[in-house]
Amino acid sequence: MLRLLLAWFVIACFFRTACAANFNDPQTILSLDNDIVFAVSDSAALTGDEQWFYSDNIIDRSPSQYLHFKVRVYNPLDTHVPVWFSIGFPAVKVLTVTDGYNRWETGDNTPFHSRAVNAPNYHFPSILKPSSYTEFSGTMSGEILRYSFSVATPEFYSNLYMKTLQRDMAFFGAMGLLTVLCVLGYFASRNLVFLSFASFIFAITFWFFRVFGYAFELLWPNTPSLNDISYAISVYSVLITAFWVLFQTLARENHVVYGAKAVKRFCAIFPLIGISLWLGVGLDIALKFPVVLFFPFTLIAGIVITVEHKRGSDRAKWLAAAMFPVTFSTLILTIIALFEVDLFLEPIATFMTGLVTTCLFMVALTASYMVKVVQRERDAQKETAQLKSEQATRLEALVAERTLALEKTNSILAELASKDGLTGLPNRRTLDLFVDTTFDKALCDYDILAIALIDLDHFKIINDRFGHDVGDEVLKGIAGILAPLNSADQVAARYGGEEFAIAKRIKRNGEINLGEHIDKITHNELQPTAQPSEADEFAEQLNAVHRAISQLAIASIGDRKLGACIGWTLCKGSDDVVEAFRRADKALYVAKDKGRNLIIPAL
Ligand code: GH3
Ligand code: MG
Ligand code: MG
Repeated sequence: MLRLLLAWFVIACFFRTACAANFNDPQTILSLDNDIVFAVSDSAALTGDEQWFYSDNIIDRSPSQYLHFKVRVYNPLDTHVPVWFSIGFPAVKVLTVTDGYNRWETGDNTPFHSRAVNAPNYHFPSILKPSSYTEFSGTMSGEILRYSFSVATPEFYSNLYMKTLQRDMAFFGAMGLLTVLCVLGYFASRNLVFLSFASFIFAITFWFFRVFGYAFELLWPNTPSLNDISYAISVYSVLITAFWVLFQTLARENHVVYGAKAVKRFCAIFPLIGISLWLGVGLDIALKFPVVLFFPFTLIAGIVITVEHKRGSDRAKWLAAAMFPVTFSTLILTIIALFEVDLFLEPIATFMTGLVTTCLFMVALTASYMVKVVQRERDAQKETAQLKSEQATRLEALVAERTLALEKTNSILAELASKDGLTGLPNRRTLDLFVDTTFDKALCDYDILAIALIDLDHFKIINDRFGHDVGDEVLKGIAGILAPLNSADQVAARYGGEEFAIAKRIKRNGEINLGEHIDKITHNELQPTAQPSEADEFAEQLNAVHRAISQLAIASIGDRKLGACIGWTLCKGSDDVVEAFRRADKALYVAKDKGRNLIIPAL
């Protein structure tokens, strides 16, 4: 029964190894995966005793054994059709193929430049004869990872290559751009999240390029070890940078991310494990190891993100969202690769899309962070500006306040410096200043300065008899008479002790006939003239002061009358000032000599 079944199986296999396609349409591709049959043997040559099976999945084969395949393609057309027998997306160490006429030897063990067919996928150019079968057969040996058989016209494969190339270039371009953006983000912010993203995107791109780009094989065809090393570095980097992204994104100040320490330790020894595997077990295992670890990585990432989310990380959910496309597309890729399920999705394109989407999400994440940083900076700048303007306003107010206080102090000081403390009258200093500036052309430019010196008569007696305080009271009383005389043109000052002085600025108003008044003034008989000159007015004023002093009533001294001598003169210029004071003083003493209580002009 078993034999019968086996016989049926073998016969069925024989008929199934034939398939046909009409290559009139150059876009036709004939997949041979369902029609090809396999057999396993211990030697490269077939003995004829081998059993043929549809799928190699049921074949138990050790890497030292040979996997034979054969398939027959029928050409229904009555013309010769040039085709490529193709083993797509292969990872086969040793490969021989024949179409009955040509024989090719190639495989990953053969240096790239010396391969019979120098193309990324293995294409074997053949010609299908009109209305007949062409059988393609061959052997594979060594490590066999994957393969897929098809036959199509060269145009079809060229078009396919072009599309694949465009897709790959778009992918590499997008990944390159995202890497650059992340690097720029890092330099702009010095935030390590950007650098971890950049490293991860770069490692992934490099790994893809290494797997699909064949650049290393083209550049260094004779050094396959370099290819292996570059591949190893890229695939190990992908896992390490994936962990870096995970922990750097979730990093928070004063907070240790769950599992970070253990993963850091693992990442530190991870390359050493790889090297040990390479040296101890073999390169294939060493290269498969990190790829296999991507599944536990996804699990670890899921756990860490969940824990951190529960611990209050606001980034965890976004990272989970970012990781979703790549996880989903990897799952699709795995399902397609492991179970050969037709999901109507091209596995590589799906994975690329997932990766680009994830990386795009990362850039968006970091960009949103950048925006926040910029906003924070702008807010800080605004706050600083506001603070500065507030400070400036406060400072201005303070300056204004201090200036006012200073002005007040200055005016108090000026008053103290210019006034006599006892009487409040201008002091001698003020009088001197007034006198000095009178003839200054730039300031006043007056013609005449009338100067009068007043000395109280027998003041000492008042002091002696009534006391110094009463003397002070008398001096204040005199000040009360003189104070109202102060104006812009006139200063009535305490000159010192019980002496007072009056200085009046006069603008020449016609010729002053002083001589005419002398007698009158000397005898206190000055009468106002029809047109009183300024000198007359001054003399009159002195008379009034003199009268007021003699009439001054001070309770403390009872009805004792006060008297004063006044000597006055007219000063006609700055050269005459010293002399004029001397004249006034002399006149004053003349008055004292003549019996006191007199006004004497010295003109
Ligand atoms: P006379 O001028 O008529 O010759 O006599 P006199 O008594 O006024 O003489 P003298 O001018 O020599 O005296 C001035 C006196 O004025 C002497 C001094 O004690 C007094 N005296 C000066 N300054 C003050 C003051 O600020 N307060 C008081 N109470 N007395 C003063
Ligand atoms: Mg005196
Ligand atoms: Mg006196």
